Amino acid sequence: MSIISKNITKLYGKQKALDDVSFAIQPGEVVGLLGPNGAGKSTMMKIITCFIPPTSGEVTVDGYDVMDNSIEVRKIIGYLPEHNPLYMDMYVKEYLLYIAGIYKLGKIKKERISEIIDITGLGPEQNKKIGALSKGFCQRTGLAQALLHYPDVLILDEPTSGLDPNQLLEIRNLIKKIGKEKTILLSTHIMQEVEAICDRVIIIHEGRIVADDSTSNLSKISTNQDIITVEFSDKVSGEALSVIPGVIKAKNLKDFIWEISANPKKDIRKDIFQFAVSNQLTVLSMNKEIKSLEEVFRSLTKK
Ligand code: ADP
Ligand code: MG
Repeated sequence: MSIISKNITKLYGKQKALDDVSFAIQPGEVVGLLGPNGAGKSTMMKIITCFIPPTSGEVTVDGYDVMDNSIEVRKIIGYLPEHNPLYMDMYVKEYLLYIAGIYKLGKIKKERISEIIDITGLGPEQNKKIGALSKGFCQRTGLAQALLHYPDVLILDEPTSGLDPNQLLEIRNLIKKIGKEKTILLSTHIMQEVEAICDRVIIIHEGRIVADDSTSNLSKISTNQDIITVEFSDKVSGEALSVIPGVIKAKNLKDFIWEISANPKKDIRKDIFQFAVSNQLTVLSMNKEIKSLEEVFRSLTKK
């Protein structure tokens, strides 16, 4: 199920929220729409999901035009809007029954709801009021709502915003699991999220696409150095570290903590371990920073 946007422009009064946006998402792709606040992400998603019309241009989902065939498009798409609007006074199951009614799931609805409750891990909370759920379980309920009618395409607007680190990991993993069988477009302003979930990233800034490439390609162009922070158990000299193949620079941050810049073509963490072992040192911690995509993003969205 493909999503094709051709020259989409959206004006809110005089303000241009989207400016000639074109892209094609192939069936099965998991694509991140990355951009700062106000970039136009939600506007693009509302157009794809038939909630607002574009000012000009056209979008098709699996060949159906969002303006001419909105009913078909809505059948294919599952949508988790920004801020996940839910009915706080409804019970989880009652809400899913209500959604199943909208999609006319008929006889299969009970079975489908329990299946979705399983998939989204809502089991323990299924009999609670939505208003009593944690933010993580609210997002699961939002995802359950989006998945209920067997959509092949998922549009998720900032699905992890406001989650704590544990909930964030859980929801990312859930999206990755679901993404194996579906076409997904998800928006985020978090670079790491794209690297963690998406095959491809479309970077949008002030309503225009400024980059569209695979996540790995974009990381590659941005990085000319890996930054590895490592803490040894004892004193180490910068000269000794510089001899490790691939090391460009070794900077002492504090006590036995070093920041090592290295050639990204090779993962030198193994060599750092080897170095420690042969010098009777222990590695207390080691961390390779993922700031690559972040740098691309910054350079592309800089004014
Ligand atoms: P994002 O989701 O990337 O944060 P949005 O698509 O929500 O961006 O917004 C893009 C731009 O359009 C922003 O400048 C925003 O203020 C403006 N905008 C969004 N919705 C409306 C609206 N209903 N009326 C007027 N301006 C809007
Ligand atoms: Mg938004």
